[in-house]
Amino acid sequence: MYSPSINNLISQFKRLPSVGQRSAERFVFCLLKSGKKDVNELREALNSLLTNTKSCEICWNFDDKSPCHICRDLKRDPAVVCVTADPQDIPVIEKTGEFRGTYHVLRGLFEMGDEMSSLKKIKLRELLTRLKTGKVKEIILALNPDMPGETTMLFLEREIKKHFSTIKITRLARGLPMGSDIQYADEITLGSAFKNRIRK
Ligand SMILES: [Zn+2]
Repeated sequence: MYSPSINNLISQFKRLPSVGQRSAERFVFCLLKSGKKDVNELREALNSLLTNTKSCEICWNFDDKSPCHICRDLKRDPAVVCVTADPQDIPVIEKTGEFRGTYHVLRGLFEMGDEMSSLKKIKLRELLTRLKTGKVKEIILALNPDMPGETTMLFLEREIKKHFSTIKITRLARGLPMGSDIQYADEITLGSAFKNRIRK
């Protein structure tokens, strides 16, 4: 129905989370109507994202430099590592002001029914390699209290205990209701969940 270039961009937008056919069509036609200046600005932003953003070699957060600004900060405690599913969880946790350790971003969670391929995608091997240095004394599992989050946390607990029995493992306290999303938690709830984390 549409030209190949329009269809191509629609398909690209549909790869983004929560974008269906209708939303993708709206984005493409909005760009076509808005003119060359806006489209060029979008292209510049995408180029800059590609050129300037790097994966932190320690924690797998995204930043302009590797190691990222948190891993480079000498005031942070590298012995305490907070494991998150996504990079977007970090600013939310930082806002609570309760955490002065470092992070490890898994870049995903176990998908139900597809555990084996999720295992390859998430940065678990990288976490275990990091723990081998012996510098990490505590792991805080800060994943969402829903099914994928719970399954991933159980797996991580088992793997860490198996290989590094002296590392203390804690979870965020149940200030977070079951099924909720860390990215939408208010600072007070998330802050108290950090203070009252559960020893595993
Ligand atoms: Zn880092």
